[in-house]
Amino acid sequence: MSLPEPTEAESPAEKPMPKPWSYRIATIQGIPIYLHFTFLLLLIFFAIGSFGGERPDYSAANLIFVLVLFACVVLHELGHSLVARRYGIPVSDITLYPIGGIARIEKQPTPRQELWIALAGPAVNFVIAGLLIVYLAVIGQARTPEIATAVIGRHFWALRVLSVNLILGLFNLIPAFPMDGGRVLRALLAMRMPFDRATAVAANIGQILAMATGFLAIVSNQWMLLFVALFVYMGAGQEVVVARQEVLMKDVAVKEAMLTDLRTLPHGATFRQAAEALLATSQHDFPVVMGDEVIGLLSRDSMLRGMAAEGPDAYVASHMNREFLKARPEDGLSDFLRKMQIQPGPALVFDGEKLAGMVTTENLMEFLMIRQIEAETHPAA
Ligand SMILES: [Zn+2]
Repeated sequence: MSLPEPTEAESPAEKPMPKPWSYRIATIQGIPIYLHFTFLLLLIFFAIGSFGGERPDYSAANLIFVLVLFACVVLHELGHSLVARRYGIPVSDITLYPIGGIARIEKQPTPRQELWIALAGPAVNFVIAGLLIVYLAVIGQARTPEIATAVIGRHFWALRVLSVNLILGLFNLIPAFPMDGGRVLRALLAMRMPFDRATAVAANIGQILAMATGFLAIVSNQWMLLFVALFVYMGAGQEVVVARQEVLMKDVAVKEAMLTDLRTLPHGATFRQAAEALLATSQHDFPVVMGDEVIGLLSRDSMLRGMAAEGPDAYVASHMNREFLKARPEDGLSDFLRKMQIQPGPALVFDGEKLAGMVTTENLMEFLMIRQIEAETHPAA
């Protein structure tokens, strides 16, 4: 059974959208599994191929094969997720993209934890492959090699699933971000050096591998491979940025980065008053209060949409968002940023019941820039 559904907001425009462009297909062990819409396009592509193809049986088998393949990808991601959970790290979701799956965890693990979490995914593929080898060995036990070959021939699907799992396991162990091997390498390095340094070294190795692959792809005219190389190259750069942020935010509390000079709107405010506040301040989002209690958050988009739909004299309460991200002043900033990446938009910070401040993407970026300069000018600090 799943958890009770979150309470619906009044207006459809205000429905919380935890994951845009994705459909939830299942929940396993409390972890929601999403299909990204680009993945649906891939399935449709195969489905069209299977019904319009010249050899329909063969293509229908292909469609089933793709589904089995992605079941293996889900199991791979569950491998990461369940090990993360064993270490007490919450897993927010697993999302399937055409290029593979991503399990999102809400906290940066220690190097030792990251090592085991990263290894758990490929390990799942090797276990599946191992089970299929045992299966084929058992059914292939026959007196003559001819009969054995014939029996295994009829279980061609098992051979295909077996090889695909071997490829998945091995491919993911390539020591380059965003593959698991990149994380394994970083974890091993981070046991001996600072985390951001370890990430930079691992990312460099990954980028060199990607460049070599890209070169190989160009001289051999393998455009798909070039695409993979580009993807790996960019993934490595992204990882360095994330690691740098992680280090800059280490041991920093939310209260140090929050906006405290904050304008609120009374719940009886009209869109006209909200628009005046929008122009008069640099704020884009306004907490809506009733007395001392915060009852919602009005974003600039909702404000403009509401104003267009209902006119400037309508009340903001009809279009404010009642489901917004919340934090406490003493929460860790880096864990909080991960939450913000999952549920984008500003967050309100509450000291007990009292509104203490707001965190937006812009002021977080400003905070990081300042920390970066501080770190460069006073490296010892
Ligand atoms: Zn993986």
